[in-house]
Amino acid sequence: MDLEQVKGDITKVLVTEAQIAARIKELAAEIDDLYKGKDVLLVGVLKGAVMFMADLSRAIQIPVAMDWMAVSSYGSGTQSSGVVRILKDLDADVLGRHVIIVEDIVDSGLTLSWLASNLSARGAASVEIVALLRKPEAAKVDVYVKMVGFDIPNEFVVGYGLDYAEKYRTLKDVGILAPSVYS
Ligand code: IMP
Repeated sequence: MDLEQVKGDITKVLVTEAQIAARIKELAAEIDDLYKGKDVLLVGVLKGAVMFMADLSRAIQIPVAMDWMAVSSYGSGTQSSGVVRILKDLDADVLGRHVIIVEDIVDSGLTLSWLASNLSARGAASVEIVALLRKPEAAKVDVYVKMVGFDIPNEFVVGYGLDYAEKYRTLKDVGILAPSVYS
């Protein structure tokens, strides 16, 4: 979906479709270099990472496998608590494999931190995280995100997979949602 369709709901475009595409090429090249010759499993976190996973996986030149997890983190309102429930587990076995968790955005980082230790505990050879977006809060927690597309301010953003109440996921760019939409 083009921005024109929801223009009144977006106060500012933070990352354009073209910027995302260019950055994904760089991230993919980095993954090609780091993981050449390794058994790589990309693990996408549903649903927000769907667009990022689709574009990143196709930009990667080395052979990689893809799988998906869905998790929900218990918490009050918009605050994530770090206590996570698996809604959909992996189909693949991660034992001895190099796992790259593909995530849309790191905010508190609590969900990702839990996910990374969960996959490590299953015997993955390595577990790293690639996130398209990172908010400032993420720097405060002990979760190491190996690759980040863009550092963004502490605003609620939508588009390119990110939603508000299941809306705006199909927007091509990433933009700040107008507070009038959710208040
Ligand atoms: P956290 O890092 O555990 O706090 O949670 C990250 C998850 O919260 C992401 O995977 C998103 O689903 C969601 N999230 C965090 N910030 C935003 C945002 O600005 N827009 C949409 N979803 C967000």
